[in-house]
Amino acid sequence: TKFTDLKLDARVLQAIAEAGYETPTPIQAGAIPHALEGRDVLGIAQTGTGKTASFTLPMITLLGRGRARARMPRSLVLAPTRELAAQVAENFDIYAKHTKLTKALLIGGVSFADQDKLIDRGVDVLIATPGRLLDHFERGKLLLTGVQIMVVDEADRMLDMGFIPDIERIFQLTPFTRQTLFFSATMAPEIERITNTFLHSPARIEV
Ligand code: AMP
Repeated sequence: TKFTDLKLDARVLQAIAEAGYETPTPIQAGAIPHALEGRDVLGIAQTGTGKTASFTLPMITLLGRGRARARMPRSLVLAPTRELAAQVAENFDIYAKHTKLTKALLIGGVSFADQDKLIDRGVDVLIATPGRLLDHFERGKLLLTGVQIMVVDEADRMLDMGFIPDIERIFQLTPFTRQTLFFSATMAPEIERITNTFLHSPARIEV
């Protein structure tokens, strides 16, 4: 498979060519076509396999088909730690650089005021840790009813860190009709239960 076979947005293809990517990794080749068709994806992959691009590239492509700068976030990416969320945000900036899509990174250790400003201005993509996202929600600053695409990254680490109840709560704050892209390095029974509850006939890709 080549990237140009994957029906990604031309602006995304340009960005990844500039980043020097030549060939999709197995998780990318497996997940991207299903994600672009609007299917839920259950990706079983470790870090270092290129899984960040496997959800970010189709997400940007799908959002690019709609109107940029919608009032409400249309996509939500959850990562277990500040560092991982910040890495996803960095990758998003690289892959989305030729689009007008906007993002906000919602993590602890940063003042609420700066994050509020971004949210108020209107962003397409929220990249967040679960606790911080729920803090914003509790403060009445955030509605997730416009979320069309939800990503859960490193679910096994979320489990280790006790975030599964937060993840379930966040799933319930988003529309039932959302598309979910869910990634975990392992499939513990608790992770299996969450995916059975919240994913709709996912394409399962294991690398
Ligand atoms: P990840 O598993 O998402 O953390 O990605 C691991 C590293 O591989 C990151 O530094 C990416 O920039 C890089 N990467 C991801 N996909 C590709 C690709 N198709 N070709 C070359 N490098 C890639």
